Amino acid sequence: MEITEPLLKERFRALNQEIFDGQLRMPTKMSVRKMTLAAGQTNYNKKRMRTTITISSCFDFTPATLDEVMIHEMIHLAHALQGHRTSHGWRFKAECRRIYKEHGIVIHRIAKHIPLKEQYKNIKKTKIPLYEKVIYYLLYPLRIFHFFFDRIL
Ligand SMILES: [Zn+2]
Repeated sequence: MEITEPLLKERFRALNQEIFDGQLRMPTKMSVRKMTLAAGQTNYNKKRMRTTITISSCFDFTPATLDEVMIHEMIHLAHALQGHRTSHGWRFKAECRRIYKEHGIVIHRIAKHIPLKEQYKNIKKTKIPLYEKVIYYLLYPLRIFHFFFDRIL
């Protein structure tokens, strides 16, 4: 399915009501970007109070897998705004358990089960763009960006 910014905003609003009791504020920016390493990404700039959720346009999402990735990023967003680290640790797992119990939705920590679109499938075997490697190796350890899924690992 085609991922657009209005669609992401619509899903954010619906899932916020359904899963998070309407507690989350819409991110400052909701964006769609070509990313093959990550299905989704949450960025929180504390100084500027800016939050961004980015969803990849390279994955072959279904409505269900798109919602799953959006919920995954929304958990990170909630934790970041509460001042917690946006990792996949116990706090993240506890929230996944709650969502499964209350809504029957399984939230994965990595997006291995979501296929890339046909035209991006060979990227892994051929070449990962240099900028993606730079982003991953330099920025991820600093936790400037959070990556939902990484294909290098
Ligand atoms: Zn994550």
